[in-house]
This record gives sequence, C-alpha cells and structure tokens, in this order.
Amino acid sequence: MSESPTGRSGDRSVAADPNTPHIVAIANQKGGVGKTTTAINLATALAVQGRRVLLIDLDPQGNASTGLGISYASRRAGSYALIAENAPLAGLACATEIETLRLVPADNELAGAEIELVDRERREYCLREALSAGAAQGAGQGAGQDYEFILIDCPPSLGLLTLNALIAAHSVLVPLQCEFFALEGVSQLIRTVDRVRRAFNPSLRLQGLVLTMFDRRNNLSELVAADARGFFGDQVFETVIPRNIRISEAQSHGKPAHLYDAKSSGAMAYARLADEVLARLSGSPVPVPVPVPATVREQV
Ligand code: ADP
Ligand code: MG
Repeated sequence: MSESPTGRSGDRSVAADPNTPHIVAIANQKGGVGKTTTAINLATALAVQGRRVLLIDLDPQGNASTGLGISYASRRAGSYALIAENAPLAGLACATEIETLRLVPADNELAGAEIELVDRERREYCLREALSAGAAQGAGQGAGQDYEFILIDCPPSLGLLTLNALIAAHSVLVPLQCEFFALEGVSQLIRTVDRVRRAFNPSLRLQGLVLTMFDRRNNLSELVAADARGFFGDQVFETVIPRNIRISEAQSHGKPAHLYDAKSSGAMAYARLADEVLARLSGSPVPVPVPVPATVREQV
C-alpha cells in the first residue's frame, strides 16, 4: 500500500481499544510557534469535556508546567525521572485545577537529559517504554491506561527528547504560527516524522497542522493560512487559533485560558480544536489522503 510521506493512508481512527491512551506529540522545532500554548489549552479543552488527559512537559524550559501553575521552584520529580530513571508514572503525575487533567512537569534535570541519554541503549525508546511500563502496572495507579489522551509538549528542536516523543506517540500535531517564515522548517519536520515512522514507529500519523496566532488585521496571517492549506490541504485543521491576549495573560497567571476567561476567543478556539481532534479521531469522515510535496517551499 502506498502512503503519503506523512503516513496518512486515509485512516485517522484512534486505537480501537478504549483503554489505550491516544498519545499525541505536539512538535515543531521552531520556538515560539504555540506548541506549549496548544498543549496546555488543548489538554484543558479535552479535559473539561470529561476526557482523562495527561500532559507531559518534555521541554526543559518547563513552560507547560509553569502555565499550569507549577512554578519552577516547586517542581519535584517529573519527565526526566520518567524517561531517565524509570520512575513510575503514577508517582509523577500532578493534579491540576481541572479534575481530569494531570501533568508530568519538567523537572530541573531535564536540561541534561539529551546529553545523558546519548550513551544509553535504546535511548530513543525511553519515553515509550516508560509509558507502557506504567500501563502494565494496572488501573488505579495513574498508569498510562488511566488516560484517554496523553499530550506531549516537545522542546523546540528535533533532538533526542523530541525523538522520544515521536516514538512514543500515535500522532504528531504541528502548530504553525501565522507569521513570516511560518513554513520554514516544516519540510524538515515532515521528513523527520517520515523517518521516525520508517525506522522506529510505523504507526505514527500526522494528526494535523494547526494555525496559531492568527491575526485578522494582518494580511500576512491570511497569506500564511492560504499557503499552508495550499500545501497541506485538509491536514490543516479548520479551526484557527486567533492571536488573543487572554491566552498569554492566562499563562502568566498559571492558568489555561478556559479557567482564566472561558469566553475569550482563544479559549473558545481551543474548545473547537478539541472537537475537531475528537471528530477526526472518531474516524469519520475518512479523508482522501493529500500528497505532500517532496519539498515544501521554505518560506512564504
Ligand atoms: P512554543 O511552545 O512553540 O515555544 P508558546 O506556546 O510558548 O510557543 O508561545 C510563544 C508565546 O506566544 C508565548 O508567550 C505565548 O503566551 C504566546 N502565544 C501563543 N499563542 C498565542 C495566541 N494564540 N495569542 C496570543 N499569544 C499567544
Ligand atoms: Mg514551548
């Protein structure tokens, strides 16, 4: 069967077993494109619908942890302990203000993980093995299967941490900032996803690209959106996340936008994105695969 370079074969359906969490890596090697914001607010939007969600902060900057109210000073063991020290997931997942949302924060040692793991055998599989080890411990212990969704906030690089996320994940969601150079590097990311699929994780799928920080008043936003849809077709989510000050204010208060201002355009956009993710995962309608060009234009 021939597949598009992004691994879509027309099947977007989530694993049939409801006890298996759907693991989504939120990745883009560019910084500042909205990965962490999407991780926090998509996780929240899924959780407020009653879904059991775990967010893993895999970025040493720890912005997802701070953005969910876990300050740098108060961080204990987290994602470093999970991937590098075989610490059980159950003991690492912290409660958040939302009952069905838990967080594995970035711990202070995570910055050294890329270097430390380099000499380790099966270094690319640390996160995948940590999550399945958790699942094997049985229900009721915060193990992987206690969640319907596990979202992984990746660092802004294609290094070993992101590789671990892509190998642990079922799908990858790519935030694309509606800014100049938005598509720069996306071809590299898509090639990386394809390589990971071939070498490590054959079932990895592209969940979709989401346009972030869209500004209606700025023609460039429209141009970037049109360009992204031109290249990636329906792999781009219909939902567009607007640039909305309430989103960044919420983060500075350690809250997801939904808890800070549920009626803000940002919070509502992430609620729609959650609906769209769920609809896509339900498997219908099955889209026609969109071929991705071997090389995409490097800039807009
Ligand atoms: P990344 O994780 O890709 O580095 P972030 O999610 O941290 O990017 O976003 C970068 C900055 O942009 C942050 O200060 C964040 O608060 C802000 N930001 C992200 N999305 C929005 C948005 N839709 N509206 C306004 N500010 C945003
Ligand atoms: Mg980030």
